[in-house]
Amino acid sequence: MTDHALCSTVLSDPKIAIIGGGLTGLLTATLLERALNQLSSSSNTPQITIFEKSRSVGRLATRYRSDSKTDKNWQWSFGAQFFTAKTADFQQFIAPWLDTGLLQPWCAEVVELTPASNNEQSPNIQSKEQWDAVHARYISKPKMTSWGRELAAALKHTTIVFKTRVAPLAHDLQSQNQQQSQKQTYNQNSKQTELFDETGASLGWFDWVICTAPNVQAVELMADSGFAQQDKITKPQMQACYTLMLGWDDVRKLPETLKDQLAPQWDVAYLNSAILDRIFIEHKKPAHGELLPSVTIHARNDWSESHVDDDIELVKEQLLQAAKQALNWNEDSAPSQIDCHRWRYAATIVNKDTEELGILIDATKQWIVSGDWCAKGNIESCYRMAQQTVKAIMQTQ
Ligand SMILES: Cc1cc2nc3c(=O)[nH]c(=O)nc-3n(C[C@H](O)[C@H](O)[C@H](O)COP(=O)(O)OP(=O)(O)OC[C@H]3O[C@@H](n4cnc5c(N)ncnc54)[C@H](O)[C@@H]3O)c2cc1C
Repeated sequence: MTDHALCSTVLSDPKIAIIGGGLTGLLTATLLERALNQLSSSSNTPQITIFEKSRSVGRLATRYRSDSKTDKNWQWSFGAQFFTAKTADFQQFIAPWLDTGLLQPWCAEVVELTPASNNEQSPNIQSKEQWDAVHARYISKPKMTSWGRELAAALKHTTIVFKTRVAPLAHDLQSQNQQQSQKQTYNQNSKQTELFDETGASLGWFDWVICTAPNVQAVELMADSGFAQQDKITKPQMQACYTLMLGWDDVRKLPETLKDQLAPQWDVAYLNSAILDRIFIEHKKPAHGELLPSVTIHARNDWSESHVDDDIELVKEQLLQAAKQALNWNEDSAPSQIDCHRWRYAATIVNKDTEELGILIDATKQWIVSGDWCAKGNIESCYRMAQQTVKAIMQTQ
């Protein structure tokens, strides 16, 4: 029997649960549907369910606010700003959305910005590079969330259940009498797993369970489950990131540092700062020219991690002071919109010397732990981990 025939036989009508509706979850569902569709000799179709505890698509995040006078928007991509597509597979995968214009290359002018030591002086700004087609960065329009929404809308055999938090998986049938929220069970006779939400309500039985939660949450979900590769989940470390969102009512009100007359002109600044990491000018991104002046600033991951439990208002004040020093605004050119967001689990610490973890599989229970943190912690990693998951499911059957 060929591999293909074997899969067709065993994978009839598979029920697959994906915990997490971020890009890893959405890309996994997309690639699974495509792979299982190729085995469509059977009349059965996969039944994939994505359980997402929030109401949107993961760390791809957009915030916007409307100006009641002009009806125009400020908009901030306060999670991922862009993504790369370095592998031929991923380039091929994104090509249809590049054709429709939903995804756009972002050939940003990048500078290195050293804030002045006091508010009287201007920052030092030096040209660094342009993100050109050789190392293309991509954004999605009109919002960074738009691509995730398109991926979700294109799924044919997948149900996305928002605002549902899957409770930690439990070890086996014996643990059923433990706390309600801990009674997830793997039944070795049927080789199926029953998932529950945090109230103890059953979410159904599944042939495969794929966890795509961020690393710390994956540790919690699998801690008492008897997952065969539990020791490896704790290996990668994640760091926080604070994001500051600033808006101005009019381009004429922008500080000189952000005005186009300035040389060198720039879209993205890498900062030499103990607090701030990067500044992104939102209204200068391709197909974003309709926006009111909007700027997103990411704080450094190490600084964010060491202030992760601080009062958010105090953090906002510190970020604002650092931003003021970097962008050098005065009373007349101060931003009118100010917002701050804390990402507890933003970035995976990547050690270039150690081997990439890759997805973690418990072949007996048919559980997979995946997510960007199993690789380099970026969007391209989500795709590669989705590919690994689909390959594992097709092979292990
Ligand atoms: C500030 C910031 C800047 C970034 N910049 C870039 C960038 O420029 N380029 C780039 O490529 N990447 C960037 N990234 C990383 C990129 O956003 C991530 O790699 C990607 O979004 C991760 O997707 P994911 O699906 O693996 O995880 P997530 O998007 O975190 O999705 C996991 C989902 O699981 C859900 N979940 C967790 N536990 C449960 C549970 N028990 N039940 C149900 N659902 C659950 C969560 O709510 C979440 O939605 C950035 C991230 C941040 C935060």
